Amino acid sequence: MTNWPAMADKYLMNFVERLPLTLVKGQGARAWDENGREFLDFVGGWAVNSLGHCHPAVAQAVTEQVNTLIQASNQFYTIPQIRLAELLVQHSCFDKVFLANSGAEANEGAVKLARRYGKLHLKGAYEVITTTSSFHGRTLAMVAATAQPKFQQPYIPLPAGFVNVEYNNFGVIKAATTSHTCAVMLEPIQGEGGVNLPDPDYLAAVRAWCDETGILLIFDEIQTGLGRIGTLFAYEQYGVEPDIITLAKGLASGIPIGAILAKDSVSVFTPGEHGSTFGGNPVACAAGLATLQFIIEHDIAGNAQIVGQYLISSLEGLKPKFPFITEVRGCGLLVAMEFSQDIAQAVVMACLERGLLINRVKPNALRFMPPLIITKAEVDEALGILAEALASV
Ligand SMILES: *Cc1c(COP(=O)(O)O)cnc(C)c1O
Repeated sequence: MTNWPAMADKYLMNFVERLPLTLVKGQGARAWDENGREFLDFVGGWAVNSLGHCHPAVAQAVTEQVNTLIQASNQFYTIPQIRLAELLVQHSCFDKVFLANSGAEANEGAVKLARRYGKLHLKGAYEVITTTSSFHGRTLAMVAATAQPKFQQPYIPLPAGFVNVEYNNFGVIKAATTSHTCAVMLEPIQGEGGVNLPDPDYLAAVRAWCDETGILLIFDEIQTGLGRIGTLFAYEQYGVEPDIITLAKGLASGIPIGAILAKDSVSVFTPGEHGSTFGGNPVACAAGLATLQFIIEHDIAGNAQIVGQYLISSLEGLKPKFPFITEVRGCGLLVAMEFSQDIAQAVVMACLERGLLINRVKPNALRFMPPLIITKAEVDEALGILAEALASV
């Protein structure tokens, strides 16, 4: 039988620590390896498979589109792109949409949009304030935005125009604002940084400051958006309307996509100032449309809220038995469990052996990001495996 990990080592660049598992198939919250072994999937393609693996509504929309029109370029109007933008606008506080191919690319576009706005309305201001333990993507500019040394150090010097300040501290944003500042960019809840929730008044304070100074507020909702945290968008839960948000991960159930949503007053691109060959591609947009329609029509965000609360309380229930669990935190189906020691990798491996896929978000923390269609019974099943794994480490 083919040794896929060995072949991968031979042919692929060594950019990520992979687990010793080759997945060949997925359905709903389950995935299978090449030997037919079944796993319960609480990684979900890194918070991407919002409707689970190969959801029939998405598979059908993609199949139809692939047999109809795969690519046409943005020089022409294509219908899935227009319909997806319409649905995003109808269900958000925004007016205009730009479609890209990934999260990092959406964020790059959002920063470019903020810089255009700065040139036109803020006397040439260009600097973007971002926060520690954030994650905004892997392009060079987004590495400069991502205020984590492990991502920045290997690539210094970084592109200019980003100021990194402490997350969840309004005072430092105020102090960092100068006449060069055009925007503040934040994840309302930090995902890759370890599922970090803001204090209740932090985002509102930043919004008020942006209103006072005229600078833009950008929410990176690539991980929190599209129902993951129990509402369609995170900004709804905090009662704060940003000027721009970015989406990607869960938007098209696994087909690469990214999106910038902005208020009319901020949508200042003119023809030629930004663009993409694949962005808004009919197949990706058909997948996005099918996903978003399903999320809205079946109140998938509501399920994420209910089952997410159940997941959090079930995880809390493990604390007495495993005193090395120091904290369970999260919102909807974006949840972390932190330990007093760096045992997350050992727990991930012990879960893998027992049929549960789970993510280590920090050396001492796990992250749970199952599909948003997950049931309480599947949570019970996962927690049974997790308890065995915790007992084994
Ligand atoms: C994953 C992620 C990104 C990057 O998205 P890519 O599609 O990997 O470029 C950016 N911001 C947040 C909050 C993310 O979770």
